[in-house]
Amino acid sequence: MRPDVTVVRLGHRQQRDKRITSHLGLTARAMGANNFVLCGDEDQGVLDTLSDVTDNFGGDFSSEHHAKPMGFLRHFTKQGGRIVHLTMYGEPHDTVTSTIPTDGPIAVVVGGAKVPGEIYKLADYNIAIGHQPHSEVAALALFMSELMGGVAGPEQFPGARLEIQSHPSGKVVIDRDEDSESS
Ligand code: SAM
Repeated sequence: MRPDVTVVRLGHRQQRDKRITSHLGLTARAMGANNFVLCGDEDQGVLDTLSDVTDNFGGDFSSEHHAKPMGFLRHFTKQGGRIVHLTMYGEPHDTVTSTIPTDGPIAVVVGGAKVPGEIYKLADYNIAIGHQPHSEVAALALFMSELMGGVAGPEQFPGARLEIQSHPSGKVVIDRDEDSESS
């Protein structure tokens, strides 16, 4: 069974981070996470984007805003969940990721604006995807691929209205509502 994963985005700034935070949520969903928690500025636009994509492309994915990320994470730990913080200062992903137990819920925390120091202590694992600064989207994608054993397949997106059929040279989309195929 695939792990139950919540991706927690810290320090979202509505004006500056709108696009990258949406990409982070979409990547979380596409890689098989179940939940997305947006911390920092409230931003209904990001939550609506994720909800629209889930309505169209299926699966069981929820997203919500939490004003107090530390409270959310402490509660998550108390409930028996494990916290993974992605940071370039952490331990190497290629030796640590395979040691993370996947029999309970996992929160994967990524930063935005300055990350509170307490996160490093609260986290069960501080994991680096290399020790160079890059993007939270890249870090999440690579970590999730290793944790989940690859990209989520179509069976993980039940109830999809739109289904993309792979094609070597064009776009083929099945629309279940209209029972039609467009290309
Ligand atoms: N400006 C922020 C700060 O001062 O902490 C960091 C910005 S960085 C673009 C945003 C997030 O991407 C980080 O908090 C971390 O979660 C993730 N990230 C960036 N590089 C990473 C790396 N090499 N390994 C793991 N995560 C990384």
